[in-house]
Amino acid sequence: MDKTNNKGRNPKSPIGDLGVTPPLGGWGVNSLGYYGEFGGAFIPEMLQPNVDALRACYREIIDSPEFKQEFINLLKNYVGRPSPLYFAKRLSGHYNTKIFLKREDLNHTGSHKVNNTIGQILLAKMMGKNRIIAETGAGQHGVATATVCALMNLECIVYMGSTDMERQLPNVKRMEMLGAKVIPAESGNKTLKDATNEALRDWINNPEDTYYLIGSVVGPHPYPDIVAKFQSIISEEMGWQLDEQIGRTSPDYILACVGGGSNAAGAFYHYLENKTVKLIGVEASGLGTLSGETAASIACGEVGFIHGSKTLLMQDGDGQITEPYSISAGLDYPGIGPIHSHLFETGRATYIDATDKEALDAAFLLTRLEGIIPALESAHALAGLEKMKFNPDDVVVVNLSGRGDKDMEAYIKNL
Ligand SMILES: *Cc1c(COP(=O)(O)O)cnc(C)c1O
Repeated sequence: MDKTNNKGRNPKSPIGDLGVTPPLGGWGVNSLGYYGEFGGAFIPEMLQPNVDALRACYREIIDSPEFKQEFINLLKNYVGRPSPLYFAKRLSGHYNTKIFLKREDLNHTGSHKVNNTIGQILLAKMMGKNRIIAETGAGQHGVATATVCALMNLECIVYMGSTDMERQLPNVKRMEMLGAKVIPAESGNKTLKDATNEALRDWINNPEDTYYLIGSVVGPHPYPDIVAKFQSIISEEMGWQLDEQIGRTSPDYILACVGGGSNAAGAFYHYLENKTVKLIGVEASGLGTLSGETAASIACGEVGFIHGSKTLLMQDGDGQITEPYSISAGLDYPGIGPIHSHLFETGRATYIDATDKEALDAAFLLTRLEGIIPALESAHALAGLEKMKFNPDDVVVVNLSGRGDKDMEAYIKNL
């Protein structure tokens, strides 16, 4: 028996004991669906029965042995978990500290998104749903959803703004190859917000057989809680992997990029109660927080309502949601999950931001020092390293949320 390999782990499960909720204290969602003053479910009355039905059953299903067994099996054998925790020696040397990379980029389909879509597709199946709808901006969540629908032989409909469809044609083709039907949203700016409206309309019209699969810790309660739980596998593995490699279960810092906030929520999750761990979210500030061309929802946002929840979002003087901008399509979202608004307001997590240029520089640096081409989203988390002051003994984990293959066009332009 290989003892080192099992140190710190639940011996019954090679990847951990997913679903065991750590003591989240005040940081988890409360019984009404709030994180502090944020969250809730602000939805049209006609949607209430669908959301109520989900809320009534999701915890029981997720905590059931049948669910856990199938989820853990797929994460291990289909996704390829546990994802490695890699000590980045040369990057550490560059910053004179100890940097580990949590390699979500090595997951099947190339990012952390699949952790969530695997979880929700099993939830949908166990609820007896056979039609899956989703909305997508950049197309990455759409691809992750189409992937698990192919796997489970379920009908898949993805709403996407027609402007986004033109900008992200390879992802549209991927979804179609996987068997999904991509429906263009032609209203408004023809981007993510419009696709979301179409998806919600579909769900209202098809309450019986349809499951709405949301891609980040956003949307009405209970979605932020569902997605955070599925992504919490990231910090769960981090604990025993650190123990295995350096004999301690917690780092001093965790850095993650923040679009809607799901990879950050998963990377922070098991450490929320442990205040010795400093949690750093990095937003995309595009051309700069003062430029108007930005996606930094915390730096530039105010309290409002988006996608069915109360949170911080970018809006103009009339309370209209403003169109976000970032070089990274996956961070190009005008709001932020309510859990992050709460972590920000309470000071439990710190949010900084990185521009397009800073993210590009960080991506090239990682590529040259470690031979890893990161996703542009993840490059924002890496850019955060520049803005921090670490001690040589600090243990810093950067959540490398995805791989850079999809971003080669942007990298080539900026070589
Ligand atoms: C979608 C995406 C993100 C942003 O989404 P979060 O919900 O904030 O995690 C980050 N990185 C990658 C690689 C993505 O595909």
